[in-house]
Amino acid sequence: MEVRMADHMGMCFGVKDAITMALGLTQRGPVTILGDLVHNDDVVAELEDAGATRAHGRADVQTRTVLLTAHGTARRVKLQLQQDGYEVHDAACPLVHRVHQAIDKLLAEGRHPVIIGQAGHVEVRGLVGDLDAYTIVGRVGDLEALEGRARLGVVAQTTQPLEKVLELVAALRQRFPSADVRFIDTVCQPTKDRQESLRRLVAECDLVIVVGGPESNNSRKLTELARRLGRPAYQVANAAELRPEWFQDVQTVGLTAGTSTPDHVISQVKAQLESMRVHECGRVS
Ligand code: SF4
Repeated sequence: MEVRMADHMGMCFGVKDAITMALGLTQRGPVTILGDLVHNDDVVAELEDAGATRAHGRADVQTRTVLLTAHGTARRVKLQLQQDGYEVHDAACPLVHRVHQAIDKLLAEGRHPVIIGQAGHVEVRGLVGDLDAYTIVGRVGDLEALEGRARLGVVAQTTQPLEKVLELVAALRQRFPSADVRFIDTVCQPTKDRQESLRRLVAECDLVIVVGGPESNNSRKLTELARRLGRPAYQVANAAELRPEWFQDVQTVGLTAGTSTPDHVISQVKAQLESMRVHECGRVS
């Protein structure tokens, strides 16, 4: 079986920088990461070994030093932590920061903020955490909540598929033709690069494997995109999750990975795929 790699894949600079910051902080003493710094169990284990514990909420924070994740955090949450006496470090990716700034700009123009993304996702919670009023749109049906709004300002969660975002913006304009709509494209460049690269890859392979943890939104989106483009696609967290039965009659496998997947996990999956043998009858061993 031939394995073809996407030319843009795997860990992005935002996640790498956040991990570097976390490991740097552990050199000075214990640190608590508020939320999942990265959706990858191997990296989480490495951070825990280095002395960084994970907390899901403020009540669980046991150390004076707190690190906020690359997904970004609402200003009021950060401020509250500082007022409570924590030493707060913020690993927010600059490209998530750009989305917060875009929302500020749209608010200053008197627009109702519309976030295209996944309600409840940590990045989206950070984006709306300082807002009194907003609408999260994940599908066309959600647009109905915008009835009666005259001025709208639209941004997107950084890891949303650009195509889906543009479709929703077009649907919004069509549904409310008299509304004054301003859209700022905030899908991040690494996400765009990975999605474009996957489109090229799909044309060259029979099946796609996406390496990414089950919590990784952008890995899930890559898997969905590959399927939408007409290829069977499976998301695996590591090499152990590959199933031989997926590869019956497959000659060429396309390999890509989400932005929180470390290189060594991708290499292990690649090696495992290359070691699989496709027999003449189509059986894989
Ligand atoms: Fe930054 Fe994009 Fe990576 Fe998120 S996916 S950390 S926004 S580069």
